[in-house]
Amino acid sequence: MLIETFIRKQLKLKAHRVSEVEQVEQTLMVHIDRFGNRRLRCGRCGRPGRRVHDVRPMRQWKDLSMRGVSLLLCYQPRRVECRDCGVHVQAVPWAEPWARVTRSLAGAVTVMARSQSWQETGRVYALNWKSVASIVRRAVDYGLAQRRQQPLHHLGIDEVSRKKGHQYLTVVYDLERRVLVWVGVDRTEATLQKFFTALGAPPLRHGAHRLYGYVGRICQRSPPATPQRTDLVRPLPCGPASESSPG
Ligand SMILES: [Zn+2]
Repeated sequence: MLIETFIRKQLKLKAHRVSEVEQVEQTLMVHIDRFGNRRLRCGRCGRPGRRVHDVRPMRQWKDLSMRGVSLLLCYQPRRVECRDCGVHVQAVPWAEPWARVTRSLAGAVTVMARSQSWQETGRVYALNWKSVASIVRRAVDYGLAQRRQQPLHHLGIDEVSRKKGHQYLTVVYDLERRVLVWVGVDRTEATLQKFFTALGAPPLRHGAHRLYGYVGRICQRSPPATPQRTDLVRPLPCGPASESSPG
């Protein structure tokens, strides 16, 4: 089997084909092209577009490496005319919109990041720390969207820092189920507000007041001094499920 065919099957390409594979040092450059005139899907709604509007500049997606050799997918995305969305960049079957890594790599990174530090995960997959954080955040956002019906009773709010505290992320855990539910850049009150916005918690309902009040106290206590972990991780006041649950 040709390596082009092998990669096409691995990526489950239907409307695209692998036109060329070339090795550049320790990287396999996989060039992908449109397969004939097959219809391409709109990147916004996922429906087949009516026709191709134009061709965008070359983009690259990092994929899982193969026997120590890095894989880089190269493709010029098309903009398609969608009946509902107008002209929009197409969806590619190997990656989420705007992602710079393939779904396969993102999945592997997400799994490893559950048990290893993000620095170690980045080292194994040859990604920088920000890329790992971005992948994990996307996965968490997706997971959050999937579990919108599950009430969150006890939240643990923590921060992670990189390189002696020059950069912070805020992480929110579901203490009841012991899972990470959200990651945000920085450790400010605005960051936590984004979490509650993502959660869909209405800001003025009874119960939400208590949540925001607690967030405010956390934020007043944390910067500028480096807080103790125990100051930041503790259950939120427990209200009825419907008050703190999304939607
Ligand atoms: Zn569309």
